[in-house]
Amino acid sequence: MTKLLPTSTAGSLPKPSWLCEPEKLWSDWKLEGDALAEAKQDALRITLAEQQFAGIDIVSDGEQTRQHFVTTFIESLRGVDFTKRETVTIRKRYEASVPTVVGAVARTRPVFVDDAKFLRAQTKSPVKWALPGPMTMIDTLYDAHYKSREKLAWEFAKILNEEARELEAAGVDIIQFDEPAFNVFFEDVNDWGVAALERAAEGLKCETAVHICYGYGIKANTDWKKTLGNEWRQYEQTFPTIQKSSIGMVSLECHNSHVPLDLIGLIRGKKVMVGAIDVASNTVETPEEVAATLRKALQFVDADKLYPCTNCGMAPLSREVARGKLNALSAGAEIIRKELSAQRPAA
Ligand SMILES: [Zn+2]
Repeated sequence: MTKLLPTSTAGSLPKPSWLCEPEKLWSDWKLEGDALAEAKQDALRITLAEQQFAGIDIVSDGEQTRQHFVTTFIESLRGVDFTKRETVTIRKRYEASVPTVVGAVARTRPVFVDDAKFLRAQTKSPVKWALPGPMTMIDTLYDAHYKSREKLAWEFAKILNEEARELEAAGVDIIQFDEPAFNVFFEDVNDWGVAALERAAEGLKCETAVHICYGYGIKANTDWKKTLGNEWRQYEQTFPTIQKSSIGMVSLECHNSHVPLDLIGLIRGKKVMVGAIDVASNTVETPEEVAATLRKALQFVDADKLYPCTNCGMAPLSREVARGKLNALSAGAEIIRKELSAQRPAA
C-alpha cells in the first residue's frame, strides 16, 4: 500500500437484523436455503459499502457469512462431531458446551473461498480475510481422538494452510489468523503455537497476520480483564517468539486497554495493526482519541508499518455504534497522516 496508515478492522462487523438476531454471538440465521445464501451475499455487499463509506482502506467480509469466527470453520471439517458435546473451559475463562473431535480431522471442501471470490469481485480495495488460528481452534473443542493439543493444532494448521492458499488464489491480500488463545497459553505459544501458525501460513505470498486480543466485549471477557491488574503484560510473553517468526503483521489491542504500548517494541520489524477502537464500549471514540492512541504507538513502530485498526471484532455491537467507530478510526488516522506530512520536509 502506498497510502500511509491504511485502516482496517480486526474482523467481524454487526450483521443486519434481517439476517440474524443482532448484538449477539452465535445468533441463529433467520432464513434458510437459497434465501439465506442470497441474504448473506447482500450482507456482504452492505458491509463492504459501509466500510468504504467510512473510508476504511483495507476491507473485509465483516464475517457476515459466519455464525462464529471459530465454530463456522470447524463445522465444515471432517472428524468433528457437533452432536457429541462436552463442557470445557474456554481460554481458562468461561465454560461452554463444545463439539468433540472423534476422528482424524480433514477439510473436505473450501470453506470461505466462494465468499472471498464474491467480495473480491465487488472491490479493488485490498482485502483482508480472517481465519481462526490453530491454538484458538483446539481451545474451542473437546479432543477425544488425538489426546494432544499440539498434535491437533498441527493437523488444523495443515487444514488452514489449504484454505489460506485458496483464499490467496481468490485474490485476498492479507490472511489473518485470529489467536486470542495466544494471550492465555504462553508456554504452549512459545513451544509450538507460533510454529503451528507458521505451518498454517506456509508458502503464502500474500501478507500474513496474527490477531491477538483480549476478546469481544462480552461479560466473561470484561470480568477476566478486571483480574489482570493495572498493567497488561501478556504480550511480553509471546512477542519475542512472534518477532522471530515468518508472520509479517501483528494485530493487537491498544485502545482503552492497560497494555503498555512500549511492548510493541518487542515485535520491531513487523507491521503492526494498532487497535485504536475499543470494542467493549458503546461509546464512540472521538477522532482525537483515536489519534492519541496512534500517536503513542508511533513511538514504538515506524509510520510505514503502522496500520490503524480496531481492538477486536465488532459483531456484538449495534450497527450504529460500529458505523460511528469506523468513521472515528478513519478520521483519527487522517489527523496523524496530516501531522506526519507536516513534519516531513517538502520534496
Ligand atoms: Zn479479537
